[in-house]
Amino acid sequence: AKNIVKIYQNGAEELKVLDDISIQVFQSDFTAILGPSGSGKSTLMNILGCLDLPTAGQYYLDGMDVLKARDNELAEIRNQKIGFVFQKFNLMPRLSAIQNVMLPLLYRGVNEKEAGETAKEKLSRLGLGDRLQHRPNELSGGQQQRVAIARAIAGNPPLILADEPTGNLDSKSSKDAMEIFRELNSEGNTIVIITHDVEVAEEVKKIFYIRDGKIYSDGG
Ligand code: ATP
Ligand code: MG
Repeated sequence: AKNIVKIYQNGAEELKVLDDISIQVFQSDFTAILGPSGSGKSTLMNILGCLDLPTAGQYYLDGMDVLKARDNELAEIRNQKIGFVFQKFNLMPRLSAIQNVMLPLLYRGVNEKEAGETAKEKLSRLGLGDRLQHRPNELSGGQQQRVAIARAIAGNPPLILADEPTGNLDSKSSKDAMEIFRELNSEGNTIVIITHDVEVAEEVKKIFYIRDGKIYSDGG
């Protein structure tokens, strides 16, 4: 991503949330974007995940010029290549934990039986093997977060974008979750963790610091 600017328009008021951000993430990187509340992290994640477009700048994802891509190409990239952990989980309230995790697999055309088995395996790996049939509102915040992580990793996407994935976890669960990201990274997945937590950021290999919409390091 190069010279990314994002301006939100609220009526007559303009708010520049990302101010000339350049960031390069390589395949198989294990990266954190660290910054305080309101610094623009989620805004940046939405752009990196092709969920939103910048006001200005360039963004190439896996060689594709995202700003020139068509909506269906972006949807395809999101379904096939990116696993998202959203800060607010974004679980489907009417679906059980296992159904939530199956969803991205079904979108990719995996059959129901295989999707169910994979979802069960991922949820078990995150310590939720006994919560498969619970709906989100029947789970604690930390458990919902783990369902969201299981959903993000279900299809083994090459790129995982995780927005505060440990924000609702106690320190043990947080370490467990980071261990799962580390394992996925050692298997070749590219991981970008967005966090305000220095301890979490210290577990990764590269850190970008963001403050007031500006990046203060090259990730080295
Ligand atoms: P947090 O750590 O609290 O999640 P963040 O770093 O993720 O914060 P963002 O959610 O990217 O921050 O928000 C950055 C700024 O942009 C904030 O000042 C916020 O109020 C503003 N903002 C975010 N989304 C919008 C929107 N859709 N319209 C207008 N302003 C927005
Ligand atoms: Mg945020």
